[in-house]
Amino acid sequence: MNITRLKTCWHKLPRQTLRELQAKQLRAYLRDVVLPFHSYYRDLFRRHRLDWRVIENLDDLQEIPFTSKKDLSGGAKKTREFVIAPDPKELARRPSTILRGLVSGVSRTRRHLDREFRPIFMTSTTGRSADPVPFVYTAHDLAILRTAGFRLMQLAGGRSSDRMLNMFPFAPHLAFWQTHYAGTAFGVFMLSSGGGKTVGTDGNIRMLRKLNPDVLIGMPTFVYHVLREAALDGVRCDKLRGIVLGGEKVPQGLRRKLQECASQLEAQDISVISTYGFTEAKMAWCECLFPVGAEPSGYHLYPDLGIVEVIDPESGALREDGQPGEIVYTSLDARGSAVLRYRTGDIIEGGLTYEPCPYCRRTMPRLLGRISRRSDFREMQLDKVKGTLVDFNELEHVLDDMPHVGSWQIELCKVNDDPMEVDELVLHVCLADGGEESSISKEIKRALFARAELHPNRIEFHTDAEMRQLQGVGEKLKEQKVVDRRSKIETSQLSKTTNR
Ligand SMILES: [Zn+2]
Repeated sequence: MNITRLKTCWHKLPRQTLRELQAKQLRAYLRDVVLPFHSYYRDLFRRHRLDWRVIENLDDLQEIPFTSKKDLSGGAKKTREFVIAPDPKELARRPSTILRGLVSGVSRTRRHLDREFRPIFMTSTTGRSADPVPFVYTAHDLAILRTAGFRLMQLAGGRSSDRMLNMFPFAPHLAFWQTHYAGTAFGVFMLSSGGGKTVGTDGNIRMLRKLNPDVLIGMPTFVYHVLREAALDGVRCDKLRGIVLGGEKVPQGLRRKLQECASQLEAQDISVISTYGFTEAKMAWCECLFPVGAEPSGYHLYPDLGIVEVIDPESGALREDGQPGEIVYTSLDARGSAVLRYRTGDIIEGGLTYEPCPYCRRTMPRLLGRISRRSDFREMQLDKVKGTLVDFNELEHVLDDMPHVGSWQIELCKVNDDPMEVDELVLHVCLADGGEESSISKEIKRALFARAELHPNRIEFHTDAEMRQLQGVGEKLKEQKVVDRRSKIETSQLSKTTNR
């Protein structure tokens, strides 16, 4: 079967055919690109006595050891190890290069190889928990970023006549650049505000007023703040029909809140679509356009550009279709930085499916349900005896799903700022509408205990402006929804002790 079918029919192949073609492409990718030119995987395969022939079908992918965040971090040397960097002499000796040189001439062949292998662009991880890790792109990768962007636009129901406002923060992060390239690839008018840090909330509202956009794109918390403020300023956005979100989790409750905010700007029945992507994949995926009020049908993947597996986070074993587990990613066509079996640390609740999408009928693999981060399980010292593992993913969903809770922040600290004391959880809340504080306070306590078995020590209510300040809207690249001050207390107390 011809491998080009994977590219041309990426959205309409049956499971079996798709997996066969993916295995075929992976074999060729390992043989021609990764193993000759990627120093980390060349060594890894050598150490494990593997070669590209090990991949007979897609299940054989399990023979390749996982790559973790830890493998990628470790400074510039480590970053370079993950870049596909061919030896020019070796490249020149290849029969395919010689043939191309004979047919198209030496300078065109050189330009072609340059396009394929020379890094010209970079994004990096946001460095929430560790040092940012850079990922480089060649012209070949930028073409893929554009392809992924074009597909995002198609799936999310974009129209070439649309006017879009990109509110992702201007930074070397995937979300901003994926959006930018999606706009240019699709040929749509797009204004990039650069987010809150560049022109402030006011600047974004000004653009909203002037552009009267059809589609807004940005991070959920920031978009929510801007729409709330715009409503207070009496801005009209009557053409708005869609909001596309990325960079954070998007609970169903938050979609409803954004729809309500938009209706205050005179935009009715808007679609709120979520995207999912990460630096290491060098692209993002999205939900397709679904009826307002219905459940989304999951992230539509591009099987010709990468392989997504779902594994048991404890044992590493592959999960059956539809079973929850950790998302693992393998590049299939990347140049520049590339990863094989990269463990994202993200847990997908509904697993992977190959069934036709109930809305758009496409048959590419999809990731179903909520995504939570393994790193959002935090150890808390709630009593002096033992630590408790708290799922902050669930706390976020509880709060975002509550209709009267607008924006919020969880603050973790120590009782009396004493490092020897137990942990304290303070919840800061800004009400979505004119609800009554004491009854909402009770409602929050009830919901947090029912769904997370947790009692907040205090609930403090704030105005919109106070909450914007707490979360760092317009100051920070990403709004702070969970603030952990415990380690700072420990460090500062420790230095006080040692200085004494
Ligand atoms: Zn669909």
